[in-house]
Amino acid sequence: MFITFEGIEGTGKSTQIGRVRDYFEARGREVLLTLEPGGSRIGVELRKMLLHVDNREITPITELFLYLADRAQHVGQVIRPALAAGKVVLCDRFADSTIVYQGYGRGLDTSMLRELNEVAVNGLWPDLTIVLDIDPEIGLKRATLRNIEDGKAKEEGRFEAEHLSFHKRIREGYLTWAALNHRRMSVVDAAGTPDQVFDQIRAVIEACGDG
Ligand code: C5P
Repeated sequence: MFITFEGIEGTGKSTQIGRVRDYFEARGREVLLTLEPGGSRIGVELRKMLLHVDNREITPITELFLYLADRAQHVGQVIRPALAAGKVVLCDRFADSTIVYQGYGRGLDTSMLRELNEVAVNGLWPDLTIVLDIDPEIGLKRATLRNIEDGKAKEEGRFEAEHLSFHKRIREGYLTWAALNHRRMSVVDAAGTPDQVFDQIRAVIEACGDG
């Protein structure tokens, strides 16, 4: 089973992915936990390029192709083999991030993005995508607090400098895109406690017929 997790910063994605891993492992399943960008060896290099604080000269199309290259390598080298070996694959961000960030966020055409994603994933779409939804003002506050606690100057620093209006566009983009793909994508309210959020996620996974 292939499950992806999406959402803006500060939704508690990492925490919830860890809980979903524990959930499947407690049921005797082998789990691969991975992420984009950076889920393969080549991807680690691409991630450095994509998320570097000083990387302001990149054009939206260049950025797009780097994300797609990361995805193609990740699917071919990591995700497909893990699924073939019977593992549950949990991925922090996947193709929907490209539609939402590069499309709804940066203004690239979403149908073009859908087609290019199709090339990158080469037929491998998630069985289930969980979209963690939160008010961006709360999300950004959580993310900033976390970074201070971690003492992180953080490679992704440039993203925090982005306007609240950008994050609002991203949130709306996720909600619109999830409604268009409601068979695969489920929106979960991420404003509650970790336990409350996980209860909703578990219900979605169980309704999907696994776990
Ligand atoms: O998931 P994580 O917080 O590591 O993602 C880092 C950042 O990369 C996101 O917050 C987002 O701003 C950016 N991103 C993007 N386009 C993508 C995927 C991620 O701009 N396709």
